[in-house]
Amino acid sequence: MSIAENVAAVRARIEAAAKGRRVLLVAASKMNDAARVKEAVAAGVDACGENRVQELVEKNAAHAYDGAPLHFIGHLQKNKIKYLVGVADLIESVDSAELIELIDRRAEKLGLTQDILLEVNIGREAAKSGLPPEEVIKTVEFAAAKPHIRVRGLMAVPPICPSAEEVRPYFAAMRELFVDIAAKKYDNTSMDLLSMGMSGDFEAAIEEGANMVRVGSAIFGARDYSKQTGR
Ligand SMILES: *Cc1c(COP(=O)(O)O)cnc(C)c1O
Repeated sequence: MSIAENVAAVRARIEAAAKGRRVLLVAASKMNDAARVKEAVAAGVDACGENRVQELVEKNAAHAYDGAPLHFIGHLQKNKIKYLVGVADLIESVDSAELIELIDRRAEKLGLTQDILLEVNIGREAAKSGLPPEEVIKTVEFAAAKPHIRVRGLMAVPPICPSAEEVRPYFAAMRELFVDIAAKKYDNTSMDLLSMGMSGDFEAAIEEGANMVRVGSAIFGARDYSKQTGR
């Protein structure tokens, strides 16, 4: 199957799960080269999501993402912010007040407003990034006071579960948090994006309220980690 065929198949599955709601498809393109990313863009994905700053910078220089918005979806480090602000259309993985502060400062310097999502550690896993659920509201309030940041919503990578059905409660908890915060109508926030669901569980995520899914292997095929050269 070609990348274009895979995108079409994923789209069809998204549509079936979305029942008329609009759901954005982000191609999670880690470990796929610029040529393959271009194929996904040509096939009409709504955005490209990159995990590693170095890959993002290299593929961006090769114009891999031309024609589609670029999202950063990986673990966010303070010293990499300068490569992302104003380059990524959406930084999906913001999970601390300190990162918000640094992004705001960088965006101010560049004279722009950076769109972000707050990443939530919805499974409260020790080894995972993301805000603990109880800290999300105060973090949205903190970000809302920053003039060069706009919070667009929430993102989560729930715990790995044996089946998509077992991930559902985490998706449902995210949806609840998302609806609660949206109802508060904070300044500088639009709370219109709920990014959750990957190749193994995006239909369940959509059924539980996701309007943005990040799909990698179902578009690009399985990743070959044996070829990995490190960060
Ligand atoms: C790799 C990745 C995805 C996509 O994973 P697949 O299982 O290949 O669809 C989604 N989100 C994040 C944050 C990722 O790192």
